[in-house]
Order: sequence, then structure tokens, then C-alpha cells
Amino acid sequence: MSPLPAVHVVLGDARAGALVALYGRDETVAAVREALEAFRRQGRTAVAAAIVEAAALWLERRHRPRVRRVFNLTGTVLHTNLGRAQLPPEAVAAATAAMTGAIALEFDLDKGKRGDRDDLVEDWLCRLTGAEAATVVNNNAGAVLLMLHALAARREVVVSRGELVEIGGAFRIPDVMARAQCRLAEVGTTNRTHLRDFDEAIGPRTAALMKVHTSNYAVVGFTATPSEAELAALAHGRGLPFIVDLGAGSLVDMDRWGLPHERTPREALAAGADLVSFSGDKLLGGPQAGIIVGRRDLIARIKKNPLKRALRMDKIRLAALEAVLKLYADPDCLAERLPTLRFLTRPEAEMAAQGQRLLPALAQALDGRAQVGLEACKSQIGSGALPVDLLPSWALVLRPPSGSRGGGRALEALAAVLRGLPEPVVGRVHDGALWLDLRCLDDEAGFVAQLGGLR
Ligand SMILES: *Cc1c(COP(=O)(O)O)cnc(C)c1O
Repeated sequence: MSPLPAVHVVLGDARAGALVALYGRDETVAAVREALEAFRRQGRTAVAAAIVEAAALWLERRHRPRVRRVFNLTGTVLHTNLGRAQLPPEAVAAATAAMTGAIALEFDLDKGKRGDRDDLVEDWLCRLTGAEAATVVNNNAGAVLLMLHALAARREVVVSRGELVEIGGAFRIPDVMARAQCRLAEVGTTNRTHLRDFDEAIGPRTAALMKVHTSNYAVVGFTATPSEAELAALAHGRGLPFIVDLGAGSLVDMDRWGLPHERTPREALAAGADLVSFSGDKLLGGPQAGIIVGRRDLIARIKKNPLKRALRMDKIRLAALEAVLKLYADPDCLAERLPTLRFLTRPEAEMAAQGQRLLPALAQALDGRAQVGLEACKSQIGSGALPVDLLPSWALVLRPPSGSRGGGRALEALAAVLRGLPEPVVGRVHDGALWLDLRCLDDEAGFVAQLGGLR
């Protein structure tokens, strides 16, 4: 058996020069060593050109971006695992400008003095929610932690048992309370909590009453829970603040577009809440952010807390958030300009027509590996917004041919083929089929262009 070529011989191959130009010398040498080692382990021999080819594959895999665009055809518009809200071009432009140059981030251009980064969005947040003051941090989990720590560290916060939510496994209200150094005083029962339960729980150590939006589940049937207005009145009567974790926090009335009503920060503040927190990348349709709006004195206290610095928002997302908030100044155009709302309000007929256009091309590309149909389905809003409300939608439905063996495995293989496309297509496996919900399919041409890859 002839020995494998030495590293310097492989690097002398003409095509190795191209790899050095593309990936650099160190990476190419590492890849060549890796390839030689693989051949050696397998007891195989090879000429330099074959080693270069193996090295090229290794380099290509290693340098493929891990952050990859996908087609979200899961039917969940705000999919946490797929990055939640997609940003409008105005926000992308603002973020790009903030990334590529110096910006007046904490610098007051009128006075020529140090400024505050919250000032960049506070006016808009106050106008859009009716609040006196506002601040923003990394995400809503951070906002809740910060509110609790600033207002209630080493004291008690009263919350209904029916609202001790867990979101995405890692965020649980009781755990966040503990991390904020607050004692949780749970009152009532899972399904029914009354105002008197809160009243009786208030003691000398109580720092606040809190309401948490039950954003990813619904308690139905024999239920009771005091309204925000009742809780606010009770808190204020006892000299305490009333705080609300709203979760999704839409800035406009969703009813306007025929969508199910989602409580707005404006409504919570009008009902008497002293502070309201919500996410930037849920129904608001902006970048990841945790927004806190409410009473000026309480916001000032929050801003003085050292956690505020630890949780602060970066300049790129602040720029994007400002641009998104500005779109809300003209709600008439919002459904057209804000991707999240555009997806949520897409007419059924439009999705059905898109399905009709795509069905033949998809069926042809799959070439008998699946039966393809167009069927009515239901989309979800997602990210804990309106958990029980579903939106009528249309999906391309892929079923492994009847009689194909190992039904579940055939279906998983089909899903894997779609995920293996250059821009992976992520659908939803349900009821023995792979559903490609068309609600969020914006880039139809891009979807069609890569169907050839299925052959
Ligand atoms: C989503 C949600 C959170 C967490 O918000 P993130 O922005 O994901 O950190 C907290 N509370 C409620 C009620 C939520 O729905």
C-alpha cells in the first residue's frame, strides 16, 4: 500500500491554493491534517487531489453559518425557537446604521452632554401606552426580574395561584421571584382567586400586588379572578404598587383587524396598574426587548437598580425598536408594514391561492415520495399570545404514499429532506402528515427556486 502524501505535498496541489485564499492558511492546514488522519484511520490510500477534496468538504461544513434563515411554515407566527418577530425594513435600516457608525446612544445632542439610552424610545412608549415614563431592558424575563428586585427585594409580593406561569421551561414566576430576592405570597386556588384573598394576604412585609398574564394557557370553567381595576384599587388603598407582567403586550387593539383581543399596556395602565412589563418581539413585532412602562417615580427607582445595567438593551436593538414604534404612529398602515401583523391578518383566500400555485411544483419535485394536498388548517399566534385562539389558514399537506412501510419513519424522513434544503423548510408533523402552513410564506419565489433540491 502506497503511503499517504505529506501535508506539504497536499498543500502544493493547485486546488489547495484556492482553499488557502478562501479560508486562510491555518484553517486549510488543519483541514488537510484532518483529512489525512481520516484516510489513515480507514487504512485507505489517496493522491493529493483526493485529500484536497476531502479537506474542502470539511472546511465547507465547518464554515457554514450556524445562524441560518429558515422558512417558518409551522403555523406558529411568533415561534420562539425560530426567532419570534421578523423585523420590517425600516427597523433593519435603523439597526444597520447603528451597527456601522457611531451613534448618539447616551449623548444628548441638544445639550452636548451625557444622555440616557432610554430617551431614544421613551417618548414613543409613553405616547403609545399613555404611561408617564418607560424603560427598556434585554427581554421581558429581565424586565420582570428587575421590577421585582427594584420594588420588592427582601419583601413579599402577592400573586394568584392561578397565575404562577412557566414560559418555555426556563422562566417560572416562583423562580424569578426567588432570584429577585422576593418572597412569593400565593393566594387563592388554581381556578378561583378572590379580591379578599389578596386583601387577607397583605401584611407589614408586603411590597406589591402582582398580576401575571396567563399567556400560554387558559383556565376555563368554574373560575374567578379579580380585575386589574379591583387589584389596583386594593393596592392603592393599602399604599402599595400594583404591577402587571403582560407578556405579549400588543400596542394596538387587535380587534381592529378582526383578531382576538389581547390586553394592551394602555388598558392595564388605565385600569390603575403602576407598572406594566411586556416583550418587544412578541405581538409588538419588534426586536427582543423587555419594556417597562408606568409611574415616573417607580421607573426612576428601577433605573437606579444595578441590575438595570446588567440587563441593558444594546444599541442595535434600540435602533430597531425605535423604528418599529414609529410605525405604530400610523395604525392604518400597520398591517401592511409590520411583518408580524401582516402574517396574522393574511386573508384566507390569499393563502389558498398561494397553495394552488405551489402544489403542482411541490408534487413534481417530490416525485411520488409524498402525496401532496392543499387543506384548511389552523395557525397559532404563538409566544404565549392568545393560547387558545386559532386563525383559519391553508397548508400544503405531505403524506408518505399509502402502503409505505414504517409510516412514522417515512414522515420523519420527509420532514428531514425539507429541513435539508439550502434554506431549510420547517413544517409541523401532525396526524400522520407534514403540514406546511402558508401563513408566513412571504418569499414564494425563494421557496420555489430551491424545490429542485428535493429531487
Ligand atoms: C413571554 C413572557 C415572558 C418572558 O418574556 P421574554 O421576552 O421571552 O423574556 C414573561 N412573562 C410572560 C407572561 C410572558 O408571556
